This record gives sequence, C-alpha cells and structure tokens, in this order.
Amino acid sequence: MADTRPETAGRPIRIAIVGVGKIARDQHLPALAANPAYRLVAAASHSGRVDGVPNFGTIEEMLAAMPEIEAVSLCMPPQVRYEAARAAIAANKHVFLEKPPGATVSEVEHLKALATRKGVSLFASWHSRYAPAVEAARTFLAGTRIRSAAINWKEDVRRWHPNQEWIWQPGGLGVFDPGINALSIATHILPEMFITQATLDFPANRDAPVAAHIRFRTADGTPIGMELDWLQTGPQSWDVLADTDAGSMVLSGGGARLAIDGRTVHEEPEAEYPMLYRRFAELVRTGKSDVDLAPLRHVADAFMLGKRSTVAAFYD
Ligand code: NAP
Repeated sequence: MADTRPETAGRPIRIAIVGVGKIARDQHLPALAANPAYRLVAAASHSGRVDGVPNFGTIEEMLAAMPEIEAVSLCMPPQVRYEAARAAIAANKHVFLEKPPGATVSEVEHLKALATRKGVSLFASWHSRYAPAVEAARTFLAGTRIRSAAINWKEDVRRWHPNQEWIWQPGGLGVFDPGINALSIATHILPEMFITQATLDFPANRDAPVAAHIRFRTADGTPIGMELDWLQTGPQSWDVLADTDAGSMVLSGGGARLAIDGRTVHEEPEAEYPMLYRRFAELVRTGKSDVDLAPLRHVADAFMLGKRSTVAAFYD
C-alpha cells in the first residue's frame, strides 16, 4: 500500500493556522508561503481571515470539515491554547505551539503525554532561540567561566502590544510575554539556574505585571539578574550580558548580535520563523516532539516566589 504520510511521501505537509492575529500575519503566513515543505489549507479564528483558503470560526469546526489537515499551528493567546491543542492531538494532528506553549506548566505536560500516546509531533516553539547570534553566544559561554550575568528586557508595551487585552489578563503573563523570550535564550545559553528572589510590579487595574526584578543563581552560585520593564520609551533593550574569564559578552537585539569586549563577533539577518518551520517539518518527518518547558517553569517560579508590588494603573 502507498505510504501517504507527508514525512515519507515527499509531499508538503497540509497545515492550518489557528488564531489569525498579529503574529500569524507578520510571521507564520510568510514563513509558510516561502517553505515548500508546507501547503496552507485552512484557517480558524473568531474574526481573522486568511485569503485563498477555507476559514472557520473554531478549530473544532475546521477539524470536522477538513480531515485532510495533517498539522496545525496554534497562534492564539496562551489562555486558550490547551483546549485547541488537545482537540488537534485527539484528531491525530501534529501541533506547533506559539510561545508561551500554554497558560500553565501542567497543561503543557499533559499535551506532551497526549502527543506521545497518539504518536504525533508536538513542538513548543521558542522563536528567540533561533535568533542569529544565540548559538554563537552559547558556544562562547560553554568555553569559559561565567562570573555573573544579567538579562535586560525593556520595551514599550504601547508600541508592541497596543490594545491587546488578553496580555493583561490572568495567564496573559504581562511583561513575561516578552520576558519569556529572554528566558528561552537564557535557558539555552546559560548553565541551569534557579530563582532566589523576585518582585513583580502589578498595575493597580491589571492582573498581570508591567515590570519584574528577579535574581537567579546557578547551581554553583553564579549570580544572574533579570530586569523586565514594559514602560521603556526611547531605545528598547533586549540584551543578555555576561562577565566571563574570556571577556565581557553582550548578546543584544533579542539575540541578533554578539559582541565580546565591545567588538561585534556575530551578526546576521534574522530568520526565526523560517527556522522554526524547518524545525517543525524535521520533527514531523522524524516522528519526534520538542517540548522544553524550562522558560515557562521560570515564569511560574517567579509568580510563586515573587513579592507582589502594586504600581500606577496602566491605560493603553
Ligand atoms: P493577537 O494579535 O491578539 O492575535 C491572537 C488572535 O488569536 C486573535 O486575532 C484572535 O482572533 C485569535 N483567537 C483568540 N482566541 C481564539 C480561539 N479560541 N480560537 C482561535 N483563535 C483565537 O496576538 P498575537 O500578538 O498574534 O499573539 C498571539 C501569540 O503569539 C501569543 O502567545 C504571543 O505571545 C505570541 N507571539 C506574538 C508576537 C508578536 O510580536 N505579537 C511575537 C511572537 C509570539 P480573532 O481576531 O479572530 O478573534
């Protein structure tokens, strides 16, 4: 009998997008259009639409109407990702999860178990790990002794997330929505680390923090500080710094550039989403999953250990 699985039949993976908002339009649709390993066959969203494919109001309607779908990319806010992923896995679909992979650690653990049971691929994507200079930073740090490190992620929420209500609601993560990108890099390039102290600043009228001040230590005691700030106007910073025996490292631009002692040693154009989709195709082809929960666990730890401070109300 002919093998019809895309991973062995050499034909594109029939994929659907769920949650047609900013990131789906800015990154997922262009990355899919440019990658011959995929054919976009449908979309599901409440009001968002994708031209040229059938559109549905819910993932359940889409899965029922189009059994030929083989994979779904879940680009909606994290609070509703679990139910959608569960429905997709139950229908034997491979699943690409936008970051953060869910609203709780346990629900993503459960999805991992469900995917294993069903024999489908689950990909918890961390786009910032695919920023161009991240691997070079990892290699540099692996070859030296780190004395201390600092993570500074400071951006203007009004510029990057205007009127996104979900981001301020429970499970939306607030400033940890970008902060988890920093953690996805830090957990990839720094030794294992643990939170020892945290303060989370909650605007008086919101259920998610607008800033966070966190201290980590590694198992051997190396101090790592993290400052997240969502009210930064002017220059924006997405930097990981390390003081090491081999010099002072600055990974800046969200992982785009690496400098050692002030000299740029690695810089390339970014291609995070094309790389994420290459990785997902490889997982589908090889029948594997990739679900690293370390960044989400640190966020959970910050909420668990963090002191809560109330700051000025936030209005968009
Ligand atoms: P967004 O612009 O608010 O878009 C999310 C979309 O999800 C909305 O358009 C909404 O669709 C849809 N949606 C909500 N509930 C749904 C459900 N139950 N089923 C199907 N669709 C649903 O948010 P975003 O900025 O794209 O962010 C989405 C995710 O991507 C977040 O986890 C975020 O952290 C991640 N991300 C965002 C960025 C960025 O730069 N914005 C970058 C990287 C990753 P309707 O409009 O149809 O109601």
